[in-house]
Amino acid sequence: MSQAIKPAADMTTKELVTFLQEANQAYRSGEPIIADETYDQIYLKTLQQREPNHPFLNAVEPESDVVSTNKKVRHETPMLSTDKAYTQEEITAYVNRVLKIAEKLKLPLDTIQFRITPKLDGMAARYSNDILATRGNGQLGNDITRNIARGLQTLGGANAGTGEIVISKRYFDDNLSDQFSHPRNFVTGLIGADNLSPEAVEAMQDKVVRFVPYTLLNQELCNANTLSTRAEELCAKVESECEYPVDGSVIDVMDEQLRAEMGSTNHHHNWQIAKKLAGETATTTVEGITWQTGRTGRITPVLNVTTINLSGADISNVTGHNAGNIRNLNVGIGAQIEIVRSGEVIPKLLAVVKEGEEAVIPATCSACDAPAEMERDFLVCQNNECVAKVEARLQHFFTILGNIDLFGPRTIEILVSNNVVDLPTIYKQTAADFEAMGFGAKQSTNLVEQLERSRSEPVEDWRFLAAFGIHHLGRGDSRKLLRVHKLETLNTLTKDQMLEIVGFGEITAEAIPISLAKNWPVISEMLALNFTLLSDEPVEAIESPITGKHIVFTGSMELPRGDMQEQARKLGATVQTSVNKKTEMLVIGDKVGAKKIEKAESLGTQVITVADYLALISD
Ligand SMILES: [Zn+2]
Repeated sequence: MSQAIKPAADMTTKELVTFLQEANQAYRSGEPIIADETYDQIYLKTLQQREPNHPFLNAVEPESDVVSTNKKVRHETPMLSTDKAYTQEEITAYVNRVLKIAEKLKLPLDTIQFRITPKLDGMAARYSNDILATRGNGQLGNDITRNIARGLQTLGGANAGTGEIVISKRYFDDNLSDQFSHPRNFVTGLIGADNLSPEAVEAMQDKVVRFVPYTLLNQELCNANTLSTRAEELCAKVESECEYPVDGSVIDVMDEQLRAEMGSTNHHHNWQIAKKLAGETATTTVEGITWQTGRTGRITPVLNVTTINLSGADISNVTGHNAGNIRNLNVGIGAQIEIVRSGEVIPKLLAVVKEGEEAVIPATCSACDAPAEMERDFLVCQNNECVAKVEARLQHFFTILGNIDLFGPRTIEILVSNNVVDLPTIYKQTAADFEAMGFGAKQSTNLVEQLERSRSEPVEDWRFLAAFGIHHLGRGDSRKLLRVHKLETLNTLTKDQMLEIVGFGEITAEAIPISLAKNWPVISEMLALNFTLLSDEPVEAIESPITGKHIVFTGSMELPRGDMQEQARKLGATVQTSVNKKTEMLVIGDKVGAKKIEKAESLGTQVITVADYLALISD
């Protein structure tokens, strides 16, 4: 976008439709120009109100050219969008439409069942006839099968039907959220890319990018009465239980006869509806913008607005998402903006209602005055020693450790301004030192006591490791690593050792030992302070026919492969994901290519069937 986007009310209908098409294209290519809520609740809604029958509203949104391939695939049955509902009233109206048809069909109303599943926030696709295809325009999709060979996991086996391509939410939060604004953008970019970025290669190797068929989603079943009264609660439940990013829930009727009778438009099935979170909105004025620098150097805008009351709280600060958003929507001082708040979270900027001054993106970091540069949609401080980064890193340690509460932003700020800029030094401070920095006598004693308590109170070793904020070592991965290697030995960890742990790919296996070595002086100094660290039960040393063996499982198996691998690990084997010269045993399920077996045999690997393997370990 070279130019700022006009407020929706100032656009002609033609401009509005052109803009919606552009925004939709950008969204599907993984580089959105406005937030999802802004698209749905402002621009799309404006068109719906002006021209409820506009053809744009009744077409399946086309995909962007980014995923366009030469191989088009015609869908056997059209893949449609989903109609949306934001309130309980809209859902109740949907339930009533269903009941009316059920009555007509003379179906007993108390037996009508509805299913609620999470609405995955990824890329819709269909896997059938050995081809994985995007939804495309609903009729014609793009062949993206090559992504399976690149590491895309397909849950439910081959040809599992319709579903969504998504990335594990925890993985994204731990490893990618500091570089990519949204998990869906990351996935869309990766599926369409000719050459995968290093982050994409890594995510594929870590097996966290997955095609998930809708049939495998967690679900809640309920009757019409429950859905008419408790939809929000049930939707919130399925959404919170899903391990992938979601942007609402999907509700559908189970009965085939009802589905057939209700039918579909060109855009959506009438027997299905998506429940999305709307939140309460209000209009206020921007009085200033505060730019805050985070742990990774990313500088985010907080809009200081004229205080207003929104769903019971006085609001004077609103998140502006990122610098790109401020630039695109032209958010300047004096602008009238619409904001939204759902749940207890900080309210978000939805749209500019009336423009104010020209938006200004700062050229320097407000914390350290070093130059700041745009990277994708983000403004980033280029100074590694930036005081805000140092503060945020120290803050991260105490937040993740999570057993004391006095070391908040204000305390850390005072410490850093007194040149106490690393963790071991913080732990060396005496009450007198704290007093000299301006803390009161009582508080100084409390600070020392809390530091003491943080060491004596038991804390999990993976939490302690994750608290250092090392790239690729969030809580989940720290735990995975520490189940196999002791914390004290991590300075000698090698890439090969990393590769033997399931869940770490080539790139993380290479990067983690390097980062650990770099951070080791601080980690070892901290370890010397005798924190009371708890370890997970180590993988038990059992004597079994496969103890100490390197094993690979391949092909389709009756039991989930993950379960087979877990069992083998428990029996003392090292499970690998592909055959190499270390592999001693290859366990083959159905549909294994002859080449794979030949390769294993040429490396001297023993090849055995699942049945023989199960017989072996049951001895
Ligand atoms: Zn800075």
